[in-house]
Order: sequence, then structure tokens, then C-alpha cells
Amino acid sequence: MEDKLIFEMSVAGRKGYSLPELDTPAEDIKKLIPAELLREELDLPEVSELDVVRHFTRLSQKNFSVDTQFYPLGSCTMKYNPKVNEEAAKLPGFTELHPLQDGPAAQGTLELLYNFERYLCAIFGYEAFTLQPAAGAHGELTALMMIKAYHNEKSKIKNQKSKTRNKIIIPDSSHGTNPASAALCGFEPVVIKSNGRGNIDLNALKQAAGGDTAGLMLTNPNTLGLFDEHILEVAEIVHQAGALLYYDGANANAIMGICRPADLGFDVAHFNLHKTFSTPHGGGGPGAGPVGVTKPLEPFLPVPRVVKKGASYKLQSANYPHSIGRVHSFHGNINVIVKAYAYVLSLGADGLKKVSARAVENANYMMDKLKNHYYLPYDRPCQHEFVLSAKWQKEKCGIRALDIAKRLIDYGFHPPTIYFPLIVEEALMIEPTESEARATLDAFCDALIKIAGECETDPELVRSAPHGTPVRRLDETKAARSPDLRYNL
Ligand SMILES: *Cc1c(COP(=O)(O)O)cnc(C)c1O
Repeated sequence: MEDKLIFEMSVAGRKGYSLPELDTPAEDIKKLIPAELLREELDLPEVSELDVVRHFTRLSQKNFSVDTQFYPLGSCTMKYNPKVNEEAAKLPGFTELHPLQDGPAAQGTLELLYNFERYLCAIFGYEAFTLQPAAGAHGELTALMMIKAYHNEKSKIKNQKSKTRNKIIIPDSSHGTNPASAALCGFEPVVIKSNGRGNIDLNALKQAAGGDTAGLMLTNPNTLGLFDEHILEVAEIVHQAGALLYYDGANANAIMGICRPADLGFDVAHFNLHKTFSTPHGGGGPGAGPVGVTKPLEPFLPVPRVVKKGASYKLQSANYPHSIGRVHSFHGNINVIVKAYAYVLSLGADGLKKVSARAVENANYMMDKLKNHYYLPYDRPCQHEFVLSAKWQKEKCGIRALDIAKRLIDYGFHPPTIYFPLIVEEALMIEPTESEARATLDAFCDALIKIAGECETDPELVRSAPHGTPVRRLDETKAARSPDLRYNL
């Protein structure tokens, strides 16, 4: 069904409301509202309530969502978010609290922030957390600012010239935000290679690490879905060089209750609550990327911090002379933190461990089913996700990962992440998450296997997919480079 824009549905005089006649004289309105805010005309569509409800309900049905379809978008952890957590975040005690309140009326929220920090410390092994960062990339920047402050402080103590440690080492499998955050923080990103098993190349690391290294940013399990087999040696090399080890924990879905990054030697880490801890995401926010630190980095945490005095909680900014300051207004995205808190409490320690175990099991199950049909560049047990390549299809039939992704839409599935990580050609990065039943995993694998067959029997069908969608294949580069989002009457 072809849908018009809401503006095109406008019929002069049609209304979506019935209100009593305005009985405030126009003169009084002019006195109450500043003249520059008053308008004579407002170009809004004139539509009925039913027009509006049908229009937006139909539009919403054209979208993919975790609530309607399997959404195995690798590195994004599109798990099901239990609705009870939304209910918790909707409680008026949280939503109607004024952000400047920090006294008796704010005790519940402060207690939640205080407790959640303790929970994160228990799950990931850190001494303290800041809950302020609003996204993973924001957490990275916050952590890098602390790394910088730490090295500056150390060189001051040693009376060395500061700014000598200006390099951040990043493996070639890293998420694009890593080098971007390093550069934004004034560091020079130094990219090093991964080896044939998907680990960091230890020799490359040894060569890169030195007196000018501020830190290494590592995702582990990395974006290939693989756990670095030499992580303890990696930590030793980095620490020997006097640098710090940073954990990109955007996806912690494989490790909860199983291993703690702090125990592996990671000095500082961020975690995406909007991936691992039950906040729907993908539309651009809001999210939360708390950062955990080991003891030596604690003095540099953002302020204010939530402290407990006797039985009450308060915000404290004094006593932290080395703090990097604030990185977000007020206390970050509280709603996201409330959902994560409810998620952790409802699952408990055993539940979180089961989440990770099931997520890893699901990914390995699918990897095994698919590896005879698509090239698997790193053939060893994966963690919460795995990366296939459409290399065979490209070589034999001229079909690319993009074509396969588009064809999957015809089978009712959201495509996996494609062309990432960059080190796998024609990458298809699949993350099933723990929430999916075996029947769904089987149906998705069957679709991918059928598509592999179609690549040989009817390549044009795949190349011109999708066929069953409201719009066919779009020019995605144009949509990203020159978006035209305004409707001009
Ligand atoms: C998602 C992700 C990020 C960035 O998180 P945002 O909240 O999108 O800024 C960083 N690293 C990895 C590995 C990720 O998957």
C-alpha cells in the first residue's frame, strides 16, 4: 500500500481534536505570551484522529524491530528487552524528579545510582564506575580523558615533560569509534594487525608498545566474536611499557558471570547498557556507557559522585581534585540506568551468567550450521557472535554480502551487520543473542542456506532483492551523504 505523507493527507478544516471554544480574550493571550513567540499561522496538517492513528501505526509496521522479527545485527546485541524494565523506568518517582534535586526527594534515585555502581563493580571487577556517559563512544572518550590525566599526573610526579605518551594502540579488528575517540582526545591512533587466529599479533604489539604509548584499546571477545587467546600476555606487554589497558565492553553479552575484565588486566572499561542491559536501541538513543576503573584511576573519575553517608545518599564533587570534571549534564540518562538496574535485579547473578552462556551457545550453534555454506574465516569456537564471509558466493556467482543481506529481508529477517569488521572481506556478522528460541535460529539458518542455493540457481533474484518490501533497493550512499528529511509544501 502506497502511503502518503501526513501533510499530503491534509484536508482543510479537518480536525483531530474537539475542545471547547477558547474563552481567553486575544488581548490577554498577548499579555501572557511574549510577542516573539506568538504566531498567526502554523503550517500543520489538518487530519482526523483516525487519520493520524492509521498513518503512524501503518508506518511503524513497515519497520523491523526486535518485538516483531529476529534481528541478528552483529556487534549491536539486539536482544529482547523485557517490558517490566520499561515499567520500572516509567515510575513517576524517577520520571518526575527534578534533575536539580539532590536532597530527601532524590534519595530513591541516588540509592539506585549508588547500588547500580556497586552491581557493575561486582559483575566486571572494577573499583568504581561513572554512570554519566550517554553512549559507548562517550564512555571511550571519558576513559581516554582519564588515561590522559593519569599519565599527566604521573609525569608531574616524576617531573617529566608531560604529553610524551601520545599514542593509543588499536587492533585492526576494532570498532570504528575506538580510533575516532582516541583522535578526538588528542591521541594518535596506531593500528596493529590481528593474526590468522583472530588474536592480536603479539610481535606487532611488542614493536608498537613503548614509552610513547598511553594505552591499548581492546575489544575482547573482539568484533570477530573471538576471545583473545593471549590476553594475559597482551596485558603484560602493555603494562611493561607503562601504558594502560582499555576494555571496549560495548558487548559484554558473552562474559557476564564468566570472566571479569579487571581480572584479565584491563585497567579501565566501558559497557553499553543499551546493548547488554536491556535498553531498546538502534534509533539513535538514549543510551548509557558507564566506565569502570581500577583503583589507580579512581581519582580521575567524573564528578559529582554518589556517596553514602550513614543511611542517606548525596552527590559529592569536593575531595576529587584530580577529577576530569563532568561529562554529562546531571547524572547521565537515568531512564536507561533504571532499566539496567531492573534487568540486573530481575535476573540476579545466576540469571546474568545464563544470559552469557546461552548467547554463546546460540552463536556457536548457528556458526556450526552455516559454516559449510558460507566461508568461515576463523574456524574456532566463537563467543556471542561470529563472522562469516560471502567470499565463495562472490567468487562463484558475483553475489555480494549486501545482496545476501537484502534477500534475507524477503525471508522476514533483519539482516546481519555487513562489511564489518573490516578485516573480513564480504563480512556477514551474526549475533543471535540469548533471547531467541532454537526454532528461530533454525529458520534463519535455513533462509541463509536457501539463499546460498539461490546464488547459484538464480543469482539475479538475489542481486535484485528485496522483492516483498514497500520500497525496493535504495541508494544508501545518497541517503547517508545527502539526506533530505524536510517536507517542503
Ligand atoms: C556499539 C559499539 C561501540 C559504540 O557504542 P555506541 O553506544 O554506539 O557509541 C563501541 N565498540 C563496540 C565494540 C561496539 O559494538
